[in-house]
Amino acid sequence: MSHDTSPLKRIRNSLVLPALVVIGLTIGVLAERVLQHPVAPWAYGLVYLVGGLPEGWQALRSLWHDHVLDIDLLMVLAALAAAAVGAPMEGAILLTLFAISQSLEHRAMGRARRAVEALMALRPDTALVRQGETVVERPAANLIPGDVVVLRPGARVPVDGVVVAGEGLLDEATLTGESEPQHKGPGAALHEATVNLNGVLDMQVTRVLANSTVARMIRLVTEAQAARAPSERFSEWFGQRYTVAVLLGALAAWAGFLAWGLSQQEALYRAATLMVAASPCAVVILVPAAILSALSAAARGGILFKGGAALETLAEVRSFAFDKTGTLTTGRAEVARIVSPDLPEAEFLQLIAGLEAQSEHPIAAAILRETERRGLVVTERHDLRAHPSEGVTSGKGDATLWAGNPRLAKRMGADLDADWLRDIDAEQRTVVYLGQGKRLIGALSVADQPRPTSHAAIAALRANGVSEIAMMTGDRRPVALRIGADLGVAPDEIHADLLPGDKVDLVARLTAKGKVAFVGDGVNDAAALARADVGIAMGVAGSEVALQAADVAFLAEDMGRLAEAHRRTRRPRRIIRQNLAFAIGAMVLLVIGALAFELPLPLAVIGHEGGTLFVVLNGLRLLADPIRTGRKSRLTAFAPQ
Ligand code: ADP
Ligand code: MG
Repeated sequence: MSHDTSPLKRIRNSLVLPALVVIGLTIGVLAERVLQHPVAPWAYGLVYLVGGLPEGWQALRSLWHDHVLDIDLLMVLAALAAAAVGAPMEGAILLTLFAISQSLEHRAMGRARRAVEALMALRPDTALVRQGETVVERPAANLIPGDVVVLRPGARVPVDGVVVAGEGLLDEATLTGESEPQHKGPGAALHEATVNLNGVLDMQVTRVLANSTVARMIRLVTEAQAARAPSERFSEWFGQRYTVAVLLGALAAWAGFLAWGLSQQEALYRAATLMVAASPCAVVILVPAAILSALSAAARGGILFKGGAALETLAEVRSFAFDKTGTLTTGRAEVARIVSPDLPEAEFLQLIAGLEAQSEHPIAAAILRETERRGLVVTERHDLRAHPSEGVTSGKGDATLWAGNPRLAKRMGADLDADWLRDIDAEQRTVVYLGQGKRLIGALSVADQPRPTSHAAIAALRANGVSEIAMMTGDRRPVALRIGADLGVAPDEIHADLLPGDKVDLVARLTAKGKVAFVGDGVNDAAALARADVGIAMGVAGSEVALQAADVAFLAEDMGRLAEAHRRTRRPRRIIRQNLAFAIGAMVLLVIGALAFELPLPLAVIGHEGGTLFVVLNGLRLLADPIRTGRKSRLTAFAPQ
């Protein structure tokens, strides 16, 4: 079962060869049965050549090179046996149906596989680039960071970038599956292959084409194809052994039929029928058909599984651990309150923003947005040290300037009991302290909102049978408790004041109770993502580290989809079980027919190929239903309640 990918080969295999085979068979049958014309053997010969030779050759090659017995070989052998006993028409029927069903299978499987590659077709080849006063058209592949691209209404974004001027609505459905257009203005990130709906935007390129979102997604998914699902590996393992067994069984049956007193011809014919009846094609293809379809459906909903293994593990997950900031919350925090007894607010903000300018933490982004909003000039500090889950520092010794959480403040020797801190501490918001050496300069609080979809998603996960929910955060406990209360997470499920290593330890502890999924944004939690049985990285813009560490890249911002994806992971299994029962049942019937009821070869072939197509199509049902929540699909919207 080779999967050719080049378009020419695809056309040849899926159209030209089957067509030739069908023509050959038609001429042969007409000549032999109706016209009694001597061309019949030549026509059958054509069928054998076109329908059998390539498959037979391929099968022999894989036997020789990889010591793998291809099931296709069984078909070719059966057809040869039919010809040997003077039934070339039946052999030709076998090869024809085989060629047609192979081509249909290839198409079906190709559809599943190409869902992600289709994104590639969505990016424009050229872009309008500002050059001095004029605008010129350049190939998208030549864009480099810093170029300013003009996006007219209706234009697709050629590479990743940020808006520098203008504002408008962006349709990101191709990437995130999100049907609601997103409003974007200066500073907002734009992703490759999304569509500018109305505004005229100037976008500064941030990534070259090869590193842009779609390219990264395709790389992730194609690399992941190697990570086969356990059930996929099983069916390959099983298919191998079973194929050998069928071959030996057919030989034994032949000998048996001879001993029973059948003629040489009769025995060979019936052994060939048995071989076709017992062929495991359906069993071998049913798992990849279901898994590939499920992966593609998920990809269209903005959830990229790095292979079937991640999908199957997610189905078994009993504990879900979440990072708080940027995962359960939007991460788009706002500065809520500033206290600085000795400095004007503006100067305080400039000082802290200078420290945070290099940080990728959502809090840093909030502070920088505030300075921008107030039109303040920020001078970046360059000797910056990041202390994950604590804050940032710059400078040495007593002159060290720092910004961060209470843990960092205490380590720097600052006194957090000052009267002027009382109000801000009581706020149950995240507080960032700014100080120099032991001296505390001031503090600000940031208000971060839970994602609107988090609450329902956590409830849905519990309803799916997830027994453990955990919220893990480096933030202080009162803040975590407040967010937790909003989201329906109990206090004993909340773990606060954690360092990145603590998250890893907690995830490890949860694994004692079954498979664990960790959902994070990659800021200070890449290690936990990697440690979990299934690491799920949030957000298209999720850092490269997070995408590498994770098993699932979650491009949509809609938490509801995560719960939906988790629920759906059980569907492939159900379908695989159904298919397996069907395939084995059909095979048993056909084998009984071949052994005991003189089942004619063409009927065995129809039963066998029909069964194989059935399991492929049944698996493909998973493809028809991309994950969408938040908006009812057209079907359910009109269905009676
Ligand atoms: P979470 O686990 O909720 O995603 P983090 O572990 O990233 O949070 O951060 C924990 C805490 O460390 C934050 O709440 C904040 O107080 C502090 N912190 C981390 N990075 C920074 C930074 N760049 N500037 C200021 N404070 C920071
Ligand atoms: Mg975080």
